[in-house]
Amino acid sequence: MSEEIRVAVVTGGGRGIGKGIVEQLCTDGYAVVVADLDPATAQSTADEMTAKGFKAVSAAGDVSKREDHDKFVKAAIDSFGRLDTYINNAGIAQIKTLQEETLEDMERIYGINVFGTLFGIQAATAQFRQQDDGDKVRKIINASSIAGHIAFDLLGAYSSTKFAVRGLTQAAAKELGSEHITVNAYCPGIVGTDMWELIDEKMVDIKGGQKGQYLEQYSQLITLGRVQTPADVANYVSYLASSKSDYMTGQAVQIDGGIQFI
Ligand code: NAD
Repeated sequence: MSEEIRVAVVTGGGRGIGKGIVEQLCTDGYAVVVADLDPATAQSTADEMTAKGFKAVSAAGDVSKREDHDKFVKAAIDSFGRLDTYINNAGIAQIKTLQEETLEDMERIYGINVFGTLFGIQAATAQFRQQDDGDKVRKIINASSIAGHIAFDLLGAYSSTKFAVRGLTQAAAKELGSEHITVNAYCPGIVGTDMWELIDEKMVDIKGGQKGQYLEQYSQLITLGRVQTPADVANYVSYLASSKSDYMTGQAVQIDGGIQFI
């Protein structure tokens, strides 16, 4: 067993929060597989990391497909020889009332946010079981949300997927604890990424108003008085991916600048 290298897969690692996590884990000494649906952003993020002297490779794939997670794991093994941490970060949002949701909408968002997380848990666990790691703790880390604790209107389907991610996190933690695998989730608040650009744009379409208005309005809820950055999320994920969190499992902590106090 190699003690020197720690290897992570980060899904949705090409941009936004995922890219922030890739940067932080590289700084922490991880070798990282940047896994993303978009091969170009995956490659450019991996290239940025290698240009800084870090170890990173890209892998293109769709988290809603079970077999693509095997590709991400294979990239970790082929490039770096092992897997320590699997981060199910990729996710999408949809802005609609529940009344407007179609079967197709629900299959799409559940396919990515929920099945994608389950498939990542399965692929990582299969690999961990093949490694001779003794009592070394391996980590699965999932993206939930503050919307996974209290649902938001117009984000009803999305919120329900993020509740489901918390459920999967708890159940997987219970099933895998005896195998030295921890499973935790991070629950960001309002992070200034393309996802929030989309949410703001769609809210303008539905409710009227100006571009940026809804991001501004929701940002008023933040106790610390500023929109969250991917680095704010990545700092916490860094802890979850480190041995400092070895005694923590099944948790879904809100890292949101103080929006929700539950
Ligand atoms: P983003 O839209 O900026 O980036 C998402 C990344 O995931 C993109 O690189 C995209 O190509 C990739 N992706 C999308 N679908 C994929 C698929 N099927 N397979 C593989 N990759 C795919 O989003 P973000 O804001 O960085 O969000 C990342 C995660 O954090 C998501 O799970 C999101 O739900 C969660 N989150 C975000 C916020 C926020 O305010 N932005 C808040 C709470 C939780």
